[in-house]
Amino acid sequence: MAGVPKHFKHRRMSILHRSIVIFDMTQNLPEKGAALQRDKKTYAVAPHIPGGVIDPQGLRKIADVAEKHQAKALKLTSGGRIAIMGIAPEDLDKVWKDLGMRPGGFTGPRIRYVKICPGATFCKRGQRDSLGLGLKLDEKYQGVQMPFKLKMGVSGCSNSCSEPALKDIGLIGTTHGWKVLVGGCAGARPRIAQTLWENLSDGEALALVDKLILYIKALGQKKRLGDIIEEMGFGSFKKDLAKFSP
Ligand code: SF4
Repeated sequence: MAGVPKHFKHRRMSILHRSIVIFDMTQNLPEKGAALQRDKKTYAVAPHIPGGVIDPQGLRKIADVAEKHQAKALKLTSGGRIAIMGIAPEDLDKVWKDLGMRPGGFTGPRIRYVKICPGATFCKRGQRDSLGLGLKLDEKYQGVQMPFKLKMGVSGCSNSCSEPALKDIGLIGTTHGWKVLVGGCAGARPRIAQTLWENLSDGEALALVDKLILYIKALGQKKRLGDIIEEMGFGSFKKDLAKFSP
């Protein structure tokens, strides 16, 4: 059974002279970008929609594929994706082939997503081009392996519609440049991020995020960034980051 994904428990059974495959319906199938649903019979898949922005044709395609494969529902996710719910396991490959898109719903120790608000491209309140900057981060980092899960949020003004203060790394656009926050999260132990730096240009903000990612990788701790900062102390974290040379 070389090449068979490890989460499949393949048992070939000859029933009425036909060979069938039994799926292990106890866990997600990360190889197929699929999350097991509560019914323990079907999966949800979420194609990658950078910045949560999609054109009408793309939206129609997702709906058409969902309908073709008899999905139970479509769900707008907190990460700005559209999850197709209730897909039978034997249809997963066909769904991805029909979509022609790559998976966006990563699980495990990765950069899960970059949540981006419409910013100065669409929103009358936008102070900065959050879509432009956020899409650069998405292209570079979405799905990248890390010691632990990490989420980013980029907002075009202090209204913070993409919740940067609840992300491990958050950016907020101001009239003077980008404010970069670190250590936020929601979940069982919610935490508000702290301001690491202010008044950064696009290039400076991107360079700081690059350095943060390399620093977090070098630390190698299997914890949310907020927990790491709490243990180190924010002052020590800032000094250590400043000294860090990738
Ligand atoms: S954070 Fe500001 S720029 Fe972004 S959508 Fe909200 S109000 Fe608009």
